[in-house]
Amino acid sequence: MKALIIGCGIGGPVTAMALQRAGIDAEIYEAYTGTADTIGSFLNIASNGLDALRTLGAHREVMAAGIPTSDMVMWSGTGKRLGQVANGMPLADGTVSHTIMRADLYRTLCDQATARKIPIVYGKRLVDVVETAGAVVARFADGTEATGDVLIAADGIRSRTRRIVDPAAPGPRYSGLISFGGVVRDPAFTGTPGVYNLVFGKKAFFGYTVAASGETWWFANLPMAREPSRETLETTDWKPILIDAFRGDGNFSADVVRAGDIGRPYPVHDLPPLPNWHAGRVVLIGDAAHATSPSSGQGASLAIEDGLILAKCLRDLPGHAAAFREFERLRRERAERVVDYSRKISNSKAAGPVARVFRDLMMPLFLKKTASSDNLTWMYRYHIDWDSPMAAA
Ligand SMILES: Cc1cc2nc3c(=O)[nH]c(=O)nc-3n(C[C@H](O)[C@H](O)[C@H](O)COP(=O)(O)OP(=O)(O)OC[C@H]3O[C@@H](n4cnc5c(N)ncnc54)[C@H](O)[C@@H]3O)c2cc1C
Repeated sequence: MKALIIGCGIGGPVTAMALQRAGIDAEIYEAYTGTADTIGSFLNIASNGLDALRTLGAHREVMAAGIPTSDMVMWSGTGKRLGQVANGMPLADGTVSHTIMRADLYRTLCDQATARKIPIVYGKRLVDVVETAGAVVARFADGTEATGDVLIAADGIRSRTRRIVDPAAPGPRYSGLISFGGVVRDPAFTGTPGVYNLVFGKKAFFGYTVAASGETWWFANLPMAREPSRETLETTDWKPILIDAFRGDGNFSADVVRAGDIGRPYPVHDLPPLPNWHAGRVVLIGDAAHATSPSSGQGASLAIEDGLILAKCLRDLPGHAAAFREFERLRRERAERVVDYSRKISNSKAAGPVARVFRDLMMPLFLKKTASSDNLTWMYRYHIDWDSPMAAA
């Protein structure tokens, strides 16, 4: 079997490595003309994502490029410490969630796929998919084609493949938040290394962690009821707006924003449930199938888990149709549960004045309950047993 993988973000290279381990050839086709060195900002790879990468022997390089971030401390906009919870659940050997620059994560995963001799072809933007008897053909914007037995769409939240296989499928759903992020180096902005500080400010949400190097990695979520147009996003001078949103908060958010570059603004989206994750010889994975807002810190980990489970299904089940059916059955409930969980957190960041008072009052109780009852075990203790054979339901 030969798999065509569309997209060399996170799910693409991981799936290719998992397929290789399952004895299935894969080629990756990426729209960009080179590795994503210029993509900004950072993300959290949760312990469950690292656990899945470990199965492929691909976790060490990722962890080496990131910062261990084991805990989260919540603050109110008045500067009151609301409580502390673990950021994920440590694995048996003590491995905790890591924070890593997005560009470093993409580069590390692509390097590992390349080192395993998996072909990655850049500058190949998928524009169409055609099924023939016994094969699937990917057509690219440059007029070239590739043929395989199955096509795995790891082409992200704005997946072109999703629209090709089901033009009626829902697209990204705006969460009411605009996200910014940056890195500053200033000894005034201190914090405990390994701790994410999350500040529910009066008008906007602020998060930061301090790297051992002394850099402060920060992000901000600015509530905005209507999604700004692309033109507004690109032409607005966001820095003074963001500084103003943090004015009067009892921490240094406004000063951090003032101190450096605030990066490109991202409206935060997720994806409503899709009617189907597969059609014929095509299957969607990662954000293409079930994008979650960043608030849960789980999107990358879900894409990684998808890659392993899909490879197991293709390894063990008779034919792609049975494999895709079982893959969707095994993954849909979990992915949609994370999307819902994340959406609730995003909503709390966009709370109005009354809800905000209630939230700040309830947060310590909520955190106490969360920290003590292990009720996120379902999310963080998801372990994939690579060797156990799959059987169709
Ligand atoms: C601001 C922000 C913060 C986030 N923070 C976190 C976090 O802390 N933790 C976390 O786990 N997740 C986070 N996420 C989500 C995470 O980035 C995604 O869930 C993850 O990248 C999904 O991986 P993927 O492989 O499905 O898609 P992507 O990583 O988006 O990769 C898709 C790839 O497909 C390529 N592509 C697209 N269209 C085509 C085409 N037509 N032809 C060929 N190639 C194509 C793209 O260029 C890209 O390389 C965040 C997202 C954002 C926007």
